[in-house]
Amino acid sequence: MVSTDVHSSDIRSKNMAAIKSRDTSPELIVRKTLHVAGYRYRLHARNLPGSPDLVFLKYRAVLFINGCFWHKHECHLFRLPKTRTEFWNSKLSGTAAKDNVNLGLLRDLSWRTGTIWECSLRGKTRLTLVAITDIMSEWLKSDRQSLEI
Ligand SMILES: [Zn+2]
Repeated sequence: MVSTDVHSSDIRSKNMAAIKSRDTSPELIVRKTLHVAGYRYRLHARNLPGSPDLVFLKYRAVLFINGCFWHKHECHLFRLPKTRTEFWNSKLSGTAAKDNVNLGLLRDLSWRTGTIWECSLRGKTRLTLVAITDIMSEWLKSDRQSLEI
């Protein structure tokens, strides 16, 4: 039998790691933009509920950058798959419920919580990066508990 697998297992596991990584492109865009604006943060804090994508220690704030499909955002980017609809509905509803629990846990730990949805970064409802930076700056420097854009 001829193997179609041209990669060594080492390269393959690196590829898998890259695919599984959370460095999706909307997230990278936001990270880069905030970094250029002078904000410093830690990435993917696995010690905090929900492993926030960015942690702004100085501002006691965390940020999630959520894909609209996987986190079941009620927006134009979200559509339940037409096959195995029940499976997907229950899976994605579960993720959304867990997200809410994690936001509550973070609040209990005195973290301020921000969420930027994918639809604010791409598609017909996207904001400019300047607008996102302004909104984030304003929120980080405020004492408001939560932000959702
Ligand atoms: Zn959305």
